[in-house]
Amino acid sequence: MFEKLKKRILSAVQKIARKGEEKEKIEEKKKKVEEKVKKKKGLLKKIIKKIKVKKLKKEDIEPIISEFKINLIEADASLEVANKIGDDLIKSLVEKEIERKKFKEKIIKSLKESLIEILNIPSIDLEKIISKAKNEDRAATFIFFGINGVGKSLSIAKFANFLSKKGYRVILAAGDTFRAAGDIQLEKYASALNLPVIKHKRGADPAAVIFDARKAAESRKYDIVLADTSGRIHTKRDLLDELQKIVRVNKPDLKILVLDSLSGNDVINQFEFFDEAVGIDAVVFTKVDVNEKGGNILSVCYKFKKPILFLGKGQNFDDIEEFDSQRFIENLIGDLKI
Ligand code: GDP
Repeated sequence: MFEKLKKRILSAVQKIARKGEEKEKIEEKKKKVEEKVKKKKGLLKKIIKKIKVKKLKKEDIEPIISEFKINLIEADASLEVANKIGDDLIKSLVEKEIERKKFKEKIIKSLKESLIEILNIPSIDLEKIISKAKNEDRAATFIFFGINGVGKSLSIAKFANFLSKKGYRVILAAGDTFRAAGDIQLEKYASALNLPVIKHKRGADPAAVIFDARKAAESRKYDIVLADTSGRIHTKRDLLDELQKIVRVNKPDLKILVLDSLSGNDVINQFEFFDEAVGIDAVVFTKVDVNEKGGNILSVCYKFKKPILFLGKGQNFDDIEEFDSQRFIENLIGDLKI
């Protein structure tokens, strides 16, 4: 996972650290001074400090930082994220007296702090949302959005499985009524998981399908409705109208956008489209198991500040990981040897 991104971070850390650890011709000076002026302790102390401690100039590391930014962008990070990480490094390293031996430590600390800031988004309290709905005698309704092929159906199935294992009763709503019957994976997944699914005929009003699922959940005492929606209909305008109607009619507790982590910077456009349409509360990134880059996850977090509900990590129902920013950061820079 994210191997390319990790390699690029490691290479930047090593290059900057080398700059910091580099010794000038001070060693020779030190010897001479030691011989000549044993008494001049003050001067000696100063020189020893120069050997142990170094102040980097901006021009010392600027080329490395520029290259690092390009590498981050090649690993799918946006320009904004790359600039933030690069600028943070410059701020914490340039014109600071740093012990040569401590350079790597300092670089990794700065990287960690940048990543923490980028990923610092309050997470979603699912239990709270579900119990609030229960107190109101209704099922919590989570609606999933996203373009076709991103892994929406499988993500819904994984999430349903995850919630069922926690003891919740989950019902699915086949709200993508536009897709040809053969493409409807959701029903196959529901049957494999032994979960009920509410569906209408192809072309039916998806807002009504989800409404029916909510009513069914209420009368059959289910806790949660997970609803699929269409990712493509005749025109963007049609899709927009359809999605807005779904939300107007069903007032979901969460509007979740599924993004394919392999789609590079297009995830930004997708987020903007769906966010303008319905207002996104949380995101899911799929296919991180086959993604070497992962910079776009940082970009979406930094730009939109919406929590990641979970990561999709494979093609099985159990391949789901609750997002934990600390674990994510650890995976990216935890292996860096200090
Ligand atoms: P939808 O069109 O958005 O509903 O997409 P599907 O749920 O049908 O998934 C599209 C394809 O992506 C399928 O072949 C899934 O098995 C695959 N897929 C979905 N999520 C993941 C994931 O996390 N990892 C991997 N490797 N494949 C995934």
